[in-house]
Amino acid sequence: MEARPVLWIVVPCYNEEQVLPLTAPMFTAKLRELAEKGKISENSRVLFVNDGSSDRTWEIIRSLATQDEHVLGICQSRNRGHQNAVLAGLMEAKDRCDITISIDCDGQDDIDAMDEMVEKYLNGAEVVYGVRSRRDTDSWFKRFTAESFYKLMNKLGAEVVFNHADYRLISAKVLQHFADFEEVNIFLRGLVPLVGFPSDQVYYERAERLAGKSHYPLKKMLALAFNGITSLSIKPITLITGFGVCFSVIGLILMIWAIIEAILGNTVAGWTSTICIICLLGGIQLISLGVIGQYIGKTYLESKRRPRYIISAKTWESEERHWIEEK
Ligand code: UDP
Ligand code: MG
Repeated sequence: MEARPVLWIVVPCYNEEQVLPLTAPMFTAKLRELAEKGKISENSRVLFVNDGSSDRTWEIIRSLATQDEHVLGICQSRNRGHQNAVLAGLMEAKDRCDITISIDCDGQDDIDAMDEMVEKYLNGAEVVYGVRSRRDTDSWFKRFTAESFYKLMNKLGAEVVFNHADYRLISAKVLQHFADFEEVNIFLRGLVPLVGFPSDQVYYERAERLAGKSHYPLKKMLALAFNGITSLSIKPITLITGFGVCFSVIGLILMIWAIIEAILGNTVAGWTSTICIICLLGGIQLISLGVIGQYIGKTYLESKRRPRYIISAKTWESEERHWIEEK
């Protein structure tokens, strides 16, 4: 039989007892469909990651696993957040499969986009990003905040794929290298592009949640954005240095003005010297902070011990893909 890649669908679940019974059969049906079409191996799996839920989510996952051998589950000792749950699932999967697709369990991401993702992988892409083609189902507020988020992220030096959340295909090969990124504060959307390798995009429409409610209120979204920027870039520090330079220039102009006013005799005694000191110190302090910040920023980036390079191919090794099933 022709070899086909083993796919693991990784699904983070946090307090999803309402939606899981609806969406779990959709994931397994998709696996069956893709296997029947001959795109993936029969040995493919759905891996649910219970992110320390306080409701019946884990019980549901366990019972699904006993009913269907294609369903597996892992349980985190406590709630660690969506990003860590996805990471835990991907790391669990990476040695047992050829490709992974991470997807939310609430039915918002269009499961049918998986066909195209697998197709693009078979055509050579190692990472396939699911990109939302429209945001009609979102409220004006969510759309505005989310789109500003992507723009701000890119301005501040964290390169993320526009309108791509965490619905993506990653090959096991890329995950092996991704495992070398040992940092604790992870922001998958910004880190995956750093690993490199050929990538592609698939467009899909995002629907409403099938049941239950979102665990991403504005507060968590802001925290995610802040974490994304500060863990990927030290541009904010450079901004402080820039402010310092601007303030120094403005301060200098103000000083000249204050001195002219003093010469013209328009001031009371002591005013000129006070103004001059304030103008001078404000700028100098900000520049100094920026310089110290640059060193702290470098220390911070060094402390992540990210890989300095990743080799994707060697002339003396075949570039042909060997899937698990063949071995
Ligand atoms: N999730 C998780 N841990 C958390 C919060 C959320 O694993 O602490 C999962 C959740 O079960 C869902 C996905 O992450 O599968 C996305 O969460 P949600 O749908 O609440 O976010 P939204 O789609 O509203 O941004
Ligand atoms: Mg959702």
